[in-house]
Amino acid sequence: VMSKNKSSESVKVVVRCRPLNRKEESNGPAGSIVQMDLRLGQVILRNPRAPVSEPQKTFTFDAVYDANSKQGDLYDESVRPLIDSVLAGFNGTIFAYGQTGTGKTYTMQGAWMDPQKRGVIPNAFDHIFTHISRSQSDKQYLVRASYLEIYLEEVLDLLDPNHGNARPLELRESPESGVYVRDLTSCVCKSIKEIEEVMNVGNQARAVAATDMNEHSSRSHALFLITVECSQPGPDGRKHIRVGRLNLVDLAGSERQAKTGVQGERLKEAAKINLSLSALGNVISALADGRSGHVPYRDSKLTRLLQDSLGGNAKTVMVATLGPAPQHYDETLTTLRYANRAKNIQNQPRVNEDPKDALLREFQMEIARLRAQLHHRKWRTKQKKEQVDGEGWERDGDEETEGEEEDEEDEEEGVEKEAEEYVKQEQRLEREKQDIREDQFMLADEKQRLLGEKERMMGVLRKEQEATEQLTAKYKAMESKLLVGGKNIIDHTNEQQKMLEGKRHEIAEQTRSEREIQQQMLVRDEETVELRETFTSLQQEVEAKTKKLKKLYAKLQCIKAEIQDVNDEHVRSRQELEQTQNELTRELKFKYLIIENFIPPEEKNKIMNRLTFDPEEDQWKFQPLVPSIFTMFLKTKCCISGYE
Ligand code: ADP
Ligand code: MG
Repeated sequence: VMSKNKSSESVKVVVRCRPLNRKEESNGPAGSIVQMDLRLGQVILRNPRAPVSEPQKTFTFDAVYDANSKQGDLYDESVRPLIDSVLAGFNGTIFAYGQTGTGKTYTMQGAWMDPQKRGVIPNAFDHIFTHISRSQSDKQYLVRASYLEIYLEEVLDLLDPNHGNARPLELRESPESGVYVRDLTSCVCKSIKEIEEVMNVGNQARAVAATDMNEHSSRSHALFLITVECSQPGPDGRKHIRVGRLNLVDLAGSERQAKTGVQGERLKEAAKINLSLSALGNVISALADGRSGHVPYRDSKLTRLLQDSLGGNAKTVMVATLGPAPQHYDETLTTLRYANRAKNIQNQPRVNEDPKDALLREFQMEIARLRAQLHHRKWRTKQKKEQVDGEGWERDGDEETEGEEEDEEDEEEGVEKEAEEYVKQEQRLEREKQDIREDQFMLADEKQRLLGEKERMMGVLRKEQEATEQLTAKYKAMESKLLVGGKNIIDHTNEQQKMLEGKRHEIAEQTRSEREIQQQMLVRDEETVELRETFTSLQQEVEAKTKKLKKLYAKLQCIKAEIQDVNDEHVRSRQELEQTQNELTRELKFKYLIIENFIPPEEKNKIMNRLTFDPEEDQWKFQPLVPSIFTMFLKTKCCISGYE
């Protein structure tokens, strides 16, 4: 059941510009074409080809980060609030968008070894596990991670041990959890170290899969998914579970891929390379527009996976990355326009409360079941002991009666005592055997029988012990995966450090709200130009109105230029699409030609009859062949070779 608190909020968009690199610095004195007003959250872009008189383009965002920005600043100001929401049970998404080489991976991952250069993902790991270690002990957490990439419109599991030759995964949709990836590996993580390990394994797989690392990583989308489930007793005394899902997305490079002049397989590939990205653009446009009813989520794997993040149940932050070099002016402008559009997307985030598929619930139930089994064993051992003793059991003061609920601490002791009990019983049996052997009045036959009997009891005892040990191990393993607030992880930071952190977060929050106020003031200023003025003389009125006219004229020129730009861009992408369409049409005609001339009509009909449309996969599929002698032969052959 989802919570009722249904409110709408826009996608947060921040822009980051990386420093000029060595090569760009040596390219000439032109320097950076990107200027930033950190206080106002504005990017001012200079067109290196335009005359100086042309006005520069200004865009306003939730925050901007210039070449000197620190990873920590971006995290504290723009990411921390989002992760806090995820920890409270919201869905959250951060995606980095921009041309290849502008700092998407640097922003998302950064340099792991240098604490100053760690990106969003490692900082989020720290944040999540520190939060858990500092939360109250009535909270239980379960954290798990998955890692996938989308390459040529195929979803690949980066945590699958045979990633190299694994089949691409399918997307599924359920009313409970939205669109998800079927059979995606998910790893339960108990610590920062474990989740970092998961990340490393995935990165390794990504590197291995790529023959040409640069091309591959700039053409694939990487999604790291973290699910945080938290259970806490509510006012009704029952444990309630909140589930926050976090998507950390490093998108493929946004630069235009040249699609012209390629044919056949290469053409198909080229058409797929940017499919997800252009579909993302279309989804953003449709949502930002607000008027068009249809949002084409189903056009690509990426947009389906991000369906909730864009216009749905999630809080979303987009980090648009820019390069400062003059030669990338066009790309930079396109990125800024894209980012500007995304600001208008409205999401409806809500806390995910007690979803049916919470894994934490399953874990809790399994743990309870194992504990009950252990209890039962203990009780049975006591009963046996009673039989062996032949009288009531001596009651140690602290032994509880059966059925009494004990808390976890006692459980630990209980398990140890259990082990001791087994040792005691074994020793007793051993002693009894010794007694029998030394008994001089017993007949040899009788001795043999009694010894055999004791031997058998020892066997049973050992088996019992083994079973208990196994059960205990299983129980402990299960339980260790649930993180208890303030217990599993020891927090080494002292109070002073914690206070410092708190202050830093406060300052980040303040910077943010100050910027918001500044931006609001700016907007209001523009709106109220006319209302304020009263004039004492005609002369003054003329001056003021001339000034206003000039201002408005400049604005008009800006907007005209903007319209021209957008038109040009539209024409360009239309031409590209037409070209692709022409090539695909030619390809299609060629295939028809082959079919008409080289495939007998009855064969063609057979193939056509086998085609069915799979709406779930959005694809045409072949039905399996109707069994005939031929196929049966094939199948038998397969089976036999399978045993070889
Ligand atoms: P992308 O993932 O967008 O293709 P990268 O993250 O790989 O780009 O960045 C390209 C290069 O620029 C890398 O060498 C990276 O270290 C450097 N870089 C990117 N952003 C920054 C930044 N904000 N500060 C310093 N170096 C950066
Ligand atoms: Mg990258």
